[in-house]
Amino acid sequence: MRKILVSQCLYGDRIVRYDGREKTLTHPVFLKWKEEGRLIPVCPEVFGGLPVPRVDSQRRGNLVVTRDGRDVTKEYEAGAAEALRLAREHDVVFCVMKQGSPACGSKLIHDGSFSGHKVPGEGVAVQLLREAGYRVYGEEDIDEAARELAAIEL
Ligand code: SF4
Repeated sequence: MRKILVSQCLYGDRIVRYDGREKTLTHPVFLKWKEEGRLIPVCPEVFGGLPVPRVDSQRRGNLVVTRDGRDVTKEYEAGAAEALRLAREHDVVFCVMKQGSPACGSKLIHDGSFSGHKVPGEGVAVQLLREAGYRVYGEEDIDEAARELAAIEL
């Protein structure tokens, strides 16, 4: 059975988000994958050593900064590297990551101004995973991801 790398906050069972809130994904296909033991949950921000809760962060060019001005790029890079290590260890078929996050976003991220604006872009972990050749879906793309999995496991 092929495995899928997923954001821990979509997987649930553990509080990892900066604001301590849950974002558990309840799409029936995702829940089936979870029950099958197919999902490998990762939280790049926590892997990088950041606490829960924490001050929120956004990408600014090649840097990641917190709302109060701290450079947390190194933490994000370390967390991304650990997510990639786990993707390789489990030979995942693709990834499903939380949209909009400075680590996990795959289409949209905040613009670095902390004003609520999102722009096309990807998070630090997603960028590294894609550079390594992994396809990354957002939580809104489960049906498309399911079609890819079905085609692979024919
Ligand atoms: S880094 Fe990813 S998995 Fe962790 S809380 Fe943020 S979006 Fe969720």
